[in-house]
Amino acid sequence: MDRVAGGVNGGQLAVFNSMRRRATGEGIPVYLVGGPVRDAVLNVPTRDLDFVLIGDAPALAADVADELGGQATVHPRFGTATVEVEGHRMDVVTARKESYPSPGSLPEVSASNLDDDLARRDFSINAMALPLSGDSPEVIDPHGGLDALAGKSVGTLHPSSFADDPTRMLRAVRYEQRLGFQITTDALSEMQQAINGGHADAVSGDRWRQEFQKIFEEDRAAEMLLRGIELGALAAIHPVLTDGKGLTRLAGEGDLGPNDFLVALAGSLSAVVGDGFARRLNLPTDWAQVVRDTIALREKQSAISGRSVMPSAVCAALDGLNPDAIAASVRFTDDPQVAARLRRYLDEWRLVSPALTGDDLLVMGVPSGPMVGEALRELTSAKLDGLVSGEEGERTLVHQIILRGS
Ligand code: ATP
Repeated sequence: MDRVAGGVNGGQLAVFNSMRRRATGEGIPVYLVGGPVRDAVLNVPTRDLDFVLIGDAPALAADVADELGGQATVHPRFGTATVEVEGHRMDVVTARKESYPSPGSLPEVSASNLDDDLARRDFSINAMALPLSGDSPEVIDPHGGLDALAGKSVGTLHPSSFADDPTRMLRAVRYEQRLGFQITTDALSEMQQAINGGHADAVSGDRWRQEFQKIFEEDRAAEMLLRGIELGALAAIHPVLTDGKGLTRLAGEGDLGPNDFLVALAGSLSAVVGDGFARRLNLPTDWAQVVRDTIALREKQSAISGRSVMPSAVCAALDGLNPDAIAASVRFTDDPQVAARLRRYLDEWRLVSPALTGDDLLVMGVPSGPMVGEALRELTSAKLDGLVSGEEGERTLVHQIILRGS
């Protein structure tokens, strides 16, 4: 208990203390569950506090939020709620039982007791609870979670766990790589059976994407994805996800974001296959564009490689592509000269514009219509390539354009 209290602060600590007071003073059967219990036993920092209540979780969440001047978002139909205090969000859920009508489908859910709630969880290390009443409560551990933590292993609660919910394949590699554990041999063969059974196909793109998103936020995301490739879990999600070359470059690197992983996963695909990947994961528009433009950029690389490529030619090739896609692609560009051009494009060239405006050109006698835009583009190119400098230089070029056009 002290480890949990010592590892959290601000809004999290306030909610934790309020729950403890209610558990001890009013006898409310509320427990800390899953990640925070695991992390307290391991004595590592925890991210979220998750609470489970044998009873009406939305009502409890609303009371706690009222007491602490926070906000509760409740979903009475699902028996779930989120309390937000001082910018910290915590889940409070009614203990429930889940059953899967068919592999990969969403579970049928009904309110139940703590045993059932722990039995629905993914791995034994996440299937422990800590009662919040009393000074030194014991961890409730019906599935061997403490032994698994001691043995540094990630194991399921039953053999059909991955078939019931194939997203657990990504969760398994996430915990394994985050904690420096090993997925048990039993769990590996259960995973293989779920892959062979094709159950991943039954899972929606949104659910897969959410698990990818959770991985993208982890420090060892590249290692997690590489492990997923090694085990065939990623190929079960989409058959093209078999190549770890891009990810290998990201392993051990800091300060990475979703775009880096998207480029590593999909940057070497063809345009058609890349679109299929984006559709399978139902990627949001900005992520789908990063995938599309990364592939487009790769196909345009020949236009910007070689010894004498003018900046205007680089801009002509790259203008219109998403700058985030270009930035994330730099790391995967083998040719240092091309990589340097991509960087200069992003930092400098794409921001170049003439000193003269369209109105200036009209005053100087350029006829209104398409010629204004063409003249501005020519001015930009000339400025990029160092053929004109300063407003006077630009005016001279405009006079030449007018003479040429008349
Ligand atoms: P942590 O386990 O560190 O909290 P996290 O925040 O990514 O990591 P969540 O994905 O929010 O974890 O899951 C919280 C808890 O909910 C897990 O510890 C697990 O007990 C349970 N859980 C989440 N997803 C599943 C699933 N697909 N199947 C079974 N249990 C799950």
